[in-house]
Amino acid sequence: MGYKYELHIHTSEVSKCSNCPAAKQVEVYHAMGYAGICITNHYFRGNTSIPRDVSFEEQIRYYVRPYELAKEAAKGTGMDVFLGWEYAAGGGSEFLILGLDTDWLLRYPDQMQWTPAEYFGRVRADGGMVIQAHPYRQASYIDTIRLMPWHVDGVEVCNASNRDFDNEMAVHYAKMYNLPMYAASDNHSGKVRRLAGVEADRRYDSIVDMLKAAASHPEWLFCEPMPQIDVHVPGDDAK
Ligand SMILES: [Zn+2]
Ligand SMILES: [Zn+2]
Repeated sequence: MGYKYELHIHTSEVSKCSNCPAAKQVEVYHAMGYAGICITNHYFRGNTSIPRDVSFEEQIRYYVRPYELAKEAAKGTGMDVFLGWEYAAGGGSEFLILGLDTDWLLRYPDQMQWTPAEYFGRVRADGGMVIQAHPYRQASYIDTIRLMPWHVDGVEVCNASNRDFDNEMAVHYAKMYNLPMYAASDNHSGKVRRLAGVEADRRYDSIVDMLKAAASHPEWLFCEPMPQIDVHVPGDDAK
């Protein structure tokens, strides 16, 4: 077995649409033997509970807390936790930002005034990566299919929460523009019907190094039913 990475996770501390706390997501992915996970909660303009009436710095501290909780929960497990965020470009278009840290978020208090193209340019100039999440998703909160092939490092061509049609369109898009392909689960609840991700050849200290290696290995992507695990998640109580 290789080294599995999850690139797209939401937690209940910051994402309004998630019912699963960060520490629980860690428990779930550790039980499945993952090498690493990225916490990518909804960010400003997205479905987030970031408070409006506090300073920018307090907003960012609030935002990164689940990542810190996840890191803490993963201590001693051998599983790596990476910080990411799901940037909302407007109209429902969303992009995963990976490879940057809390200092980067704090450095630019005016970042939400930048256009999406400016935002991605700054992210990439500073060593981060931009992956468009579910570009062809059909949902009530999305009014436009918006593609920015010249401003991203890759495309989430398999989102385990999407319809197969949406994913097939994303594969076609990535191939036509020769963009690296990635797979992820968009896990909001800990236990999900199926999981998608990247199964790498080894462990990577840097998520950017892993993503760059995966760019030339589309065969590393997987999408499969979630295995049974002996972890209790909040959703179990509703059943
Ligand atoms: Zn969500
Ligand atoms: Zn998401």
